[in-house]
Amino acid sequence: MSDEQAAAPTNNFLRSIIDEDLKSGKHSGVVTRFPPEPNGYLHIGHAKAICINFGLARDFGGRCHLRFDDTNPAKEEQEYIDSIKESVRWLGFDWGQHLYYASDNFEQLYQWALYLIEQGKAYVEDLSAEEIRAYRGTLTEAGTESPYRNRTVAENLELFGRMRSGEFPDGSHVLRAKIDMAAPNINLRDPVIYRILHAPHPHVGDAWKIYPMYDFAHGQTDALEGITHSICTLEFESHKPLYEWFLDNLPVPARPRQYEFARLNLTYTVMSKRKLQELVQLGTVSGWDDPRLPTLEGLRRRGYTPASIRTFCEQIGVGRSDSWIDVSVLEECVRTDLNDSAPRAMAVLRPIKLVIDNYPADMTEELQAANHPQKPEMGSRTIGFSKEIWIDGDDFMEVPRKGFHRLMVGGEVKLRFGYIVTCTGVIKDEQGTVLELRGQYDPASREGIHTADGRKVKGVIHWVSAAHAVAAEVRLFDRLFADPNPDRGGIDYKQFLNPNSVETLTDCKLEATLADSDVETRYQFERTGYFRQDPKDSQPGELVFNRVVTLRDVWARK
Ligand code: ATP
Ligand code: MG
Repeated sequence: MSDEQAAAPTNNFLRSIIDEDLKSGKHSGVVTRFPPEPNGYLHIGHAKAICINFGLARDFGGRCHLRFDDTNPAKEEQEYIDSIKESVRWLGFDWGQHLYYASDNFEQLYQWALYLIEQGKAYVEDLSAEEIRAYRGTLTEAGTESPYRNRTVAENLELFGRMRSGEFPDGSHVLRAKIDMAAPNINLRDPVIYRILHAPHPHVGDAWKIYPMYDFAHGQTDALEGITHSICTLEFESHKPLYEWFLDNLPVPARPRQYEFARLNLTYTVMSKRKLQELVQLGTVSGWDDPRLPTLEGLRRRGYTPASIRTFCEQIGVGRSDSWIDVSVLEECVRTDLNDSAPRAMAVLRPIKLVIDNYPADMTEELQAANHPQKPEMGSRTIGFSKEIWIDGDDFMEVPRKGFHRLMVGGEVKLRFGYIVTCTGVIKDEQGTVLELRGQYDPASREGIHTADGRKVKGVIHWVSAAHAVAAEVRLFDRLFADPNPDRGGIDYKQFLNPNSVETLTDCKLEATLADSDVETRYQFERTGYFRQDPKDSQPGELVFNRVVTLRDVWARK
């Protein structure tokens, strides 16, 4: 990531810990990791974890690994692996040579499981999953020891070997660590460390019939990779004693330490992979990259910039107490970024035609339009003007409400970068629908907002010359849920879906310069919002633009 993109790091408790560790000589460098399980697409919550881990490595001159925590092949797929890599890169981070898979360590983990068995610290369990649960006890009651807990080392070695060779069906045996069935922390009551699963694995194929549990893989993989600070979300706090028990009881090459931070909770959305998957499967959204989803692929497709997401992650900070962030904070980050960088253009989303009766039919003119009102260095472009122009339906009112300063019959308005026009009449069909407007222009008013006789005009509207316009479809996205906390429980979150989360306008008129605009360029359509071509559906001659974000926070007024 280039320096000018990197937000200035603000202090947080993780930085203080690392500072201390470097000062005291506990560590000479920082190695972190981002450890997604490849069982879905990344979302904005993962962006927080990515920015924390890669950000700390960047700021302390260390390195951050991308590690696939791939211990559950039943739910994992290559498609997710590819997408996750792409999303991390897109966000602006680089793992260099340090791409790892927990599954690359399966043989070493297996050897460590044998080691525990030999030390009398692991045993093969024959009880069913249900029985194991019943024996585990509760928060207030100790668990009960399994009748298989005291198998001999030889018997355990033999059974575990047969588990590996695929002799037993799924669920018939597990390997458990022998810790303490009366431990106050339930995670220490002889946790399962291996299970049988006759399923092919996306990274190691069908080499294995048994797979390590997350808890048995995570800390040891951290140790093998030389991770110094293993940073995860708070729900792993109660797993930390187990994380440490494995490191204490195995001949691991290094001693990583786990630190927890509060996960990101964002309003008006859901982030659990299971729910995102459900929305995709039900067809509620068009796919994992639906521009309304909080997935990184969705935000990317919609037109969010990586810089705006990094700024967001920096702004929300890193703490240890659970909190909610309003989605308007994210929206404001992309708005601020685009306000600064997006070239301006004119687009009419709900067109009605205005015919300028006193403008010669065979004449066209070229007008100059600034690409950014505050940035002359962004230059200007030429836009065509002609007798017939498109204006936005919202900019005309037959019966104007009080304070309406745009077009009405008998009223006048300034066309941005062009002339002042007066509306002289309305043409309607039999049903009363407005077909077109008639008007007159003031030839002396090309510059400025004054008419030839010096009257000032209040309203300025955007427009597109009909002779020059290019057609486009425009998709106006809004929040996917109409409720700030759809996932609060008790009620099916789908009840809170916003029925108006997308509006597709198929008859939009854009200024001609947009005909061959670059897919990556985000524009401010003047007075309308920030837009970008849909990278999947847009093509030359059949343009499709997505609204990234509105010009202002419209929800604040609801
Ligand atoms: P699910 O969404 O189903 O709970 P997950 O998001 O925890 O799954 P992982 O692949 O395990 O899936 O996540 C990878 C990393 O991202 C983990 O370190 C996890 O702590 C972190 N992470 C996940 N969700 C968030 C979030 N909302 N905020 C911050 N970090 C998160
Ligand atoms: Mg997880």
